[in-house]
Amino acid sequence: MSDINSKIYLDYAATTPVDSRVLDAMLPYFSEYFGNPSSVHGPGQLADAALEEARRKVASLLGARSEEILFTGCGTESDNLALRGAAMGQRRSRGAYHILISPVEHHAVLHTVQQLEAYYGFDVETLPVDPYGRVDPQDVKASLRPTTALVSVIYANNEIGTINPVAQIGEVCREAGVLFHTDAVQAAAHLPMNVQLDNIDLMSIGAHKFYGPKGVGALYIRRGVEIIPAQTGGGQEFHLRAGTQNVPYIVGLARALEIAQTGIEERSGILSGMRDHLIERVVKEIPDARLTGHPQNRLPNHASFVFKGVDGNQLLMMLDAAGFACSSGSACKVGNPKPSEVLEAIGVMPAWNKGSLRVTLGHGTTPEHIDQLMAVLPGIVDQLRKLSAV
Ligand SMILES: *Cc1c(COP(=O)(O)O)cnc(C)c1O
Repeated sequence: MSDINSKIYLDYAATTPVDSRVLDAMLPYFSEYFGNPSSVHGPGQLADAALEEARRKVASLLGARSEEILFTGCGTESDNLALRGAAMGQRRSRGAYHILISPVEHHAVLHTVQQLEAYYGFDVETLPVDPYGRVDPQDVKASLRPTTALVSVIYANNEIGTINPVAQIGEVCREAGVLFHTDAVQAAAHLPMNVQLDNIDLMSIGAHKFYGPKGVGALYIRRGVEIIPAQTGGGQEFHLRAGTQNVPYIVGLARALEIAQTGIEERSGILSGMRDHLIERVVKEIPDARLTGHPQNRLPNHASFVFKGVDGNQLLMMLDAAGFACSSGSACKVGNPKPSEVLEAIGVMPAWNKGSLRVTLGHGTTPEHIDQLMAVLPGIVDQLRKLSAV
């Protein structure tokens, strides 16, 4: 086994380390202020004060009100609660059963709506995307029906980095009176978030993608949107998500979001400079290499490629052995040899779509890391092609 400290980590879209400022904010809430926020006594009220302060902070960072922010166990849970809860609510209140999604959603969205279709009688329709993986707001408009319960389109794609025209999609939905959910789990780390400007009704985020802890997420629910809870029990989180709140993690999520949403422009400039340098070199120095996703309109830290005739899993293993932690696109697809639905949706040909590589940069990345990667990547790709040719 290789030593983790000798690895160059280039997989910040899979997860990020906890920022030391975040950890400092969390620590007192494990054993010093350990009360249950639902308790009436002093220790409980101290925990409740921290919980509500975190809620206010998250709300103000997203352009929302406190009572519109709900804490969950992760980004996946936020997606689940938003989709299942709103779909059930819309069917109950107005008989709506049609769900529109993009073909480039994270599995947390895709598999949730597939279950709604298979077991709960909803009708799921997939929107078209352009070759960069972008949804056209006019296509959303044309696909809306009187029976549409909600629309869900990913804010920024985890596999190919492309950013969707979320504000325009939200506007189309708003005009038609249809709920709009967006999975902003990747976007919140790098893009300024504002649910008012973006016309969003439901938005999912997860802390570990922006230097917060794993196992905590948040869901924005616009006031008045009916959600049928998936988890029942106590009255926590406005009776929508029962279970004692994880106060230290929630405090950590709020602090991490505050750090992520501050100084975005400066950080984006640094990251996108390194990203563009990497993209330029890969496309120039490696034959039959292509960028996937949009060349400009993409997450500032995100570079993703396909290499013709290369096995992506072998590529990752070779890179790992050479000291680089990268990904094929989605950390949720370990051991899955099938080409990704996202690459199929954007029309990547079969000869290319198994050879994907995602390189995502972060706080620890330096220009030297990019040079070090480029010192080995062309040779590894070449070697794998020769192996598969025999
Ligand atoms: C990581 C991710 C999720 C899942 O979030 P977890 O907090 O890991 O459950 C959902 N959607 C997107 C786009 C992601 O990148």
